[in-house]
Parts: sequence; structure tokens; C-alpha cells
Amino acid sequence: MEKELGLDFIDDYNRNYLHGDLGQKRFAAKWGVSKNLIFANNLRGNRRSWFQMLNLPKKDSQLRSTVPGRDLPACECCGEEIPLDKAHWKEHEKGGPYKSYNLINLCPNCHRKLDRGDSEITHKCRKILLFREINNFNTKDYTEEKAETLLSICENIILERR
Ligand SMILES: [Zn+2]
Repeated sequence: MEKELGLDFIDDYNRNYLHGDLGQKRFAAKWGVSKNLIFANNLRGNRRSWFQMLNLPKKDSQLRSTVPGRDLPACECCGEEIPLDKAHWKEHEKGGPYKSYNLINLCPNCHRKLDRGDSEITHKCRKILLFREINNFNTKDYTEEKAETLLSICENIILERR
């Protein structure tokens, strides 16, 4: 099945659904199938959905505990487990997009420091973002298009907040 669906699907799932801004419905529409076929936990007739077959990770919002105060995500910068802000790396006002490569989950304290231009926090956030985004990117199979995308993501991270 993995071969049939191809790595393109997994890559697309990671980039546009898991770390991107497509919801389940729009992502399924992109692949021309029903949302259930990709995401359902119990398809009829004991069939398994694609994300079950491929054992793909769930999105944060699917994982997040419904019990308040438990399993809070940690600040990517200091590790503090409190409700986090999604901080824009390239500022929203400057046209920074609401995309994984431009967002970093920070506690309010680190967020404030970042926006004040604290050099230590800025440097740390730059490293974290760059490391995370390169890891998230499937760099195994080179294509011009992917390399171009990766380059522009890295440039956004490296050149902003200088
Ligand atoms: Zn923090």
C-alpha cells in the first residue's frame, strides 16, 4: 500500500496537512477522495484509512488532551509547559504567513523577549526553527521544486529578525 500511494502522499501529508495549513477536508479534496478514506478511525467493512495504513502521525490538534492542564505542549525555546502562543517569525504585519516554517510555539515570556529583539532568544529561535523545518522536510528525493521551496524556507528563517 505504501508503494501504491507513494511517498508523495506522505510528503504532502507532512507538509500541507501535518505542518501546513490545510484542514482534513481541503487536504482530502486535493487528493480527490473523501475525508474519511484518509482520516477515519473506523471505516466500514474493516477497511483501514490511509493514515492508519501508513501509520502517519496525527496533527497536534488531534493529539491534544481534552483534560485541561494535562499534556500541555512545551515552549519550543525554554521547555515551559504552559499555554503557548504561536509566534510569527517574520512578523504578521510584515506579511509573515501563518505557516509552520514561520511559526514557533513559545511561552508568553519567550514570545515577549523575541518580540523585544532579545538577541539570545532570537538566536535560539532561529536555530530551533531551522532545525525543525529541515527535519520536517523530506529531503531524500531531490527535485528542483522541493529544493527551491526548502531554500526559500531557510532564507526566511535565516534572514528575518536580523
Ligand atoms: Zn519559553
